[in-house]
Amino acid sequence: MSEVTAISKFACPGCGGEAVWTPAKKALVCPYCGTVSPAELKADGSLIEESDLATALRSIPEDQRGWAAKRKTVRCQSCQAISVFDEKRVAQRCDFCGSSSLLSVDDIQAPIRPGSLLPFKIADTHVREEIRKWYGSHFWARSNLNDKAMTDTLHGLYLPYWTFDAHAECPWEAEAGHHYYTRDSQGRQQRQTRWEYASGHVSQDFDDVLVPASKGVHPALLSALEPFPTVDSLVPYDAGYLSGWVVEQYQIDLIQSAQASRSRMDDLLRSTCAQQIPGDTYRNLQISPEYSAQTFKHVLLPVWLLTYTYGTKTYQVAVNGVTGKITGEYPLSWVKITIAVVLGLILLFIMMQMGN
Ligand SMILES: [Zn+2]
Ligand SMILES: [Zn+2]
Repeated sequence: MSEVTAISKFACPGCGGEAVWTPAKKALVCPYCGTVSPAELKADGSLIEESDLATALRSIPEDQRGWAAKRKTVRCQSCQAISVFDEKRVAQRCDFCGSSSLLSVDDIQAPIRPGSLLPFKIADTHVREEIRKWYGSHFWARSNLNDKAMTDTLHGLYLPYWTFDAHAECPWEAEAGHHYYTRDSQGRQQRQTRWEYASGHVSQDFDDVLVPASKGVHPALLSALEPFPTVDSLVPYDAGYLSGWVVEQYQIDLIQSAQASRSRMDDLLRSTCAQQIPGDTYRNLQISPEYSAQTFKHVLLPVWLLTYTYGTKTYQVAVNGVTGKITGEYPLSWVKITIAVVLGLILLFIMMQMGN
């Protein structure tokens, strides 16, 4: 620790706790909330910060932090997710991975309070039914997972997200392709394309570009759960909504969140620009966006999560708590796969015989 104390103290932008310089990550990592802040160490031992987001987060005042209700906080030693729930409840196992090694972090500093949330719309009875149907429809999944395993570990969770808003001014250039038709020597119609330079300009406002801040749910599932109707259905944060539910506390990698929001906005701009290109097709689209008025919010979104272990692996099935969209992982049935491969080989062999 002597190395660390030589550096001037650095308050975590997420929770205000004292972040620790971690040479392996070349970043400041908060031991309380897991926030990874982008910073570089100068030769004299002082820190260079790299992110506007970090500065903005740090300036969030004390009265906009905390849960506005008595809550208990634990960190899972296995998947690192931080769960927050009613004070009276005793957590036996992590809702995300099933591990029982939970560490109480009641001395945690107050995280940023969510500005708003989406309340649950879909009841657990319906979710159980849908998960059963979904699992049954996946041919490659093992068929011998019992019903109990499929439904006993279903949890309703509020997951943490950052939403980013921004304005973009974006000039674009491209080659627009116009189709025309000629006839070849046999009189058949041939499609040709004439390419012409085209350019234009797009002004776009982004509203609620989502970046997940969950550690507990596997990343591939998180992206498959979207979209959430954040634009018209968010309600202002009220501790009452969370009573009886488990909330995952955000953990942020500031560099990644900022990059993720920017690349999603770039993608959206690209498709808006593409729609403006005249003609029938296009190529070499170049966009040069300038972003301004970037703001962000912390929101909670409802997800039903089922976690089960098969062998040594943990599998998750997640259901969007508003739209009911379902996505998940399942153990493959090697018996089914082996039979399919053998059948395929037999078929191939028969076809080769017939070809001779
Ligand atoms: Zn922190
Ligand atoms: Zn866990």
